[in-house]
Amino acid sequence: MADAPLRIALLGRQGAGKGTQATRISHHFAIVHIATGDMLRAAVRAGTPFGEKAKAYIDRGELVPDAVIIGVVSERLAEPDAARRGFVLDGFPRTIAQAEALDALLAPARLDVVVDLEVPEWLVVERLASRRVCSVCGANYSTTLQPRVDWTCDVCGGEVVQRSDDTEEAIRRRLAAYEEQTTPLIAYYREQGVLEVVDGVGEPDEVHERILEALARHGIVSEEA
Ligand code: AMP
Repeated sequence: MADAPLRIALLGRQGAGKGTQATRISHHFAIVHIATGDMLRAAVRAGTPFGEKAKAYIDRGELVPDAVIIGVVSERLAEPDAARRGFVLDGFPRTIAQAEALDALLAPARLDVVVDLEVPEWLVVERLASRRVCSVCGANYSTTLQPRVDWTCDVCGGEVVQRSDDTEEAIRRRLAAYEEQTTPLIAYYREQGVLEVVDGVGEPDEVHERILEALARHGIVSEEA
């Protein structure tokens, strides 16, 4: 019988490194990286009515309504790539209502592991202030780790910019929303026995290794490993 799909979610404050680590996990296990922030920003760029509405929330540093984002994720999870090989969720769920909706969507299966990337608040504030991203593919850079050629993306050539919600005011609101709405998920998943807390401080390679060790504790290893 074929192996079951992998179902992984990453929790962690803005700037904890979820995007970077989710990308690595998705390559390591050849599973889909589902980043709700990237999906919303793509809709904003496309200028759809949905994107226009989402932009207002994003720029204020507030969460878009649960029903909206749950609809987006449920459609994405139903696509064959996610359904067959599995996925790593980055930025979803962010509220208890989203976690409950996800449980209902996956039932009778459930998430295999939820990795909580722990990084202290002072450090994420520093990382967010220096973060720069590709406006086309979302690849991450910073003022200290610049792209090779004049703020154009090493991966796709797109323009590398500061995110519109990486302003001091929006950062403050987003971190407050995280404390209030997302930290309750830590207890939620601990209770389900799927939580792994991983130290997110350090070089991306080190953090990636820690995550692989945490996944291995749940029997998740890649075929080559
Ligand atoms: P991120 O790139 O994950 O930091 O997300 C950027 C913004 O997109 C957030 O500040 C929210 O406005 C919105 N967003 C992303 N994921 C979610 C989610 N699961 N629930 C509600 N809003 C979200």
